[in-house]
Amino acid sequence: MDLTSLSAGAHHIAGRLTGGTGTEPFQVVNPADGSVVREVLLASASDVDAAVGAAKAAQPEWSGATPGTRAQALLKLAAVLEERAGKFARVETAQTGKPIKLSSEFDVPGTIDNTSFFAGAARNLEGRAAGEYSGDHTSYVRREAIGVVGSIAPWNYPLQMAAWKILPAIAAGNTIVLKPAELTPLTSLMFAEACTEAGIPDGVVNVVTGAGRSAGERLVRHPDVAMVSFTGSTAVGRRVAELATATVKRTHLELGGKAPFVVFDDADLEAAVHGAVAGALINSGQDCTAATRAYVQRPLYEAFVAGVAELFAGIRLGDPLNPQTDLGPLVSYTHRDRVAGFVERARGYGATVVTGGRAPAKGHDGTDLTLGAYYLPTLITGAAQDSEVVQGEIFGPVLVVLPFDSDEEGLRLANDTPYGLAASAWTSNVHRSLRATREIAAGCVWVNDHIPIISEMPHGGYKSSGYGKDMSQYSLDEYTQVKHVMYDTTAVVRKDWHRTVFGDR
Ligand code: NAD
Repeated sequence: MDLTSLSAGAHHIAGRLTGGTGTEPFQVVNPADGSVVREVLLASASDVDAAVGAAKAAQPEWSGATPGTRAQALLKLAAVLEERAGKFARVETAQTGKPIKLSSEFDVPGTIDNTSFFAGAARNLEGRAAGEYSGDHTSYVRREAIGVVGSIAPWNYPLQMAAWKILPAIAAGNTIVLKPAELTPLTSLMFAEACTEAGIPDGVVNVVTGAGRSAGERLVRHPDVAMVSFTGSTAVGRRVAELATATVKRTHLELGGKAPFVVFDDADLEAAVHGAVAGALINSGQDCTAATRAYVQRPLYEAFVAGVAELFAGIRLGDPLNPQTDLGPLVSYTHRDRVAGFVERARGYGATVVTGGRAPAKGHDGTDLTLGAYYLPTLITGAAQDSEVVQGEIFGPVLVVLPFDSDEEGLRLANDTPYGLAASAWTSNVHRSLRATREIAAGCVWVNDHIPIISEMPHGGYKSSGYGKDMSQYSLDEYTQVKHVMYDTTAVVRKDWHRTVFGDR
């Protein structure tokens, strides 16, 4: 595809694209064929400082704007994104390798919908009613912006992650510096350009392209950054939390997942099989909520495994720009090798690789897949509950299926990893579904589906999947701080409570 129309520059600071002052080159590579999409110079410390400086300078005026003004800017942004939907989808596909039908039917429309949602939400911050709670005072609550937010995003849904970070932060009156993953900065830069075109003032939205250890840590440590919002792996999230403690920053951590997919013996088998395949393979399994561990009650177990194997065999790998392609490559060759490592080690400890377990050679459309970071849909059975493929986040097109007997056992196994981001329960029995939704410790539990998200509803983890919510009105709580204002209503000079100091005098 023609990417020559992509604006030059690696950072968007104070409303302008800039090359920055870094000296370390980085190639954004298309993992479908290894071609270079764009070369950027990674951010230096002074680029990060410049972005934080721009955000700090813009913050007072932006937080002082009326909610209506911020909402209008976000509505305009939604319109600009809509005009450029096709280009956003193509660039997202080029930098990640995800199928164009995914970028154009999920990533881009989801981002536009999120933008319109936060335009409305900006005008609708809720709080406790003002009132005379003490009898002698009127109390009310102000929900105020926090200041400059430093955000760090992963590579799996670069555009959506940028939107999930930027939109609630600026809707609430904060300004932001976003550091996208180094592998996938391009649509975040395009998003920041669109913000400027929509009339969002310079400095409100800044993007710096940089490495985690240098630019990321600089941002987290920066004394002028009041809050850090991070989406990525649990290991890096821990590091970010540690660094943020030094300056007592508020943190918002959206971390890894290992979602269970629990199929009870009264489930609709065909629906569960289709749901598991789609839920495991969306975005090549590089989805923090992807179905990764299917627990199937014994009577359905064999038919479930056979059904998934059959559908996996029919999945079309190929050129991501081909609308018929179901599965693109993984995001990079390094990541493909990491996924393959999990599968090889599983073979080593006696698990059965039923389908896949290797890189493919040719696509459904004749594409030479050996040039890209492709990996076949892989179905594993016979793994122990405490094995690495069941416990660890593989982040690839790999589904492990395990049988269970009693409902207690199924729910216990579902909860038996350090993660708690998402889960699903498949059953036609209302009591079983109520029990599963109550007992599974995860930030989202679907019943008879797995994956859908919606702007109005919160997304975020339990346990080692982090804390804080993205999307929905709940995310505005994350990006605001609450101030209690208390007015004396009596005009009495010697107040009753002064007795605790003056006694009877
Ligand atoms: P990652 O943790 O390796 O990197 C995430 C971001 O952190 C990148 O921008 C990276 O440059 C930066 N980073 C790395 N080291 C850093 C450091 N020391 N200080 C500051 N920043 C640093 O994750 P990834 O491989 O990009 O993404 C995949 C992970 O993201 C998976 O674990 C996935 O589950 C998680 N994820 C979670 C959610 C969610 O909502 N919970 C959503 C998407 C992805």
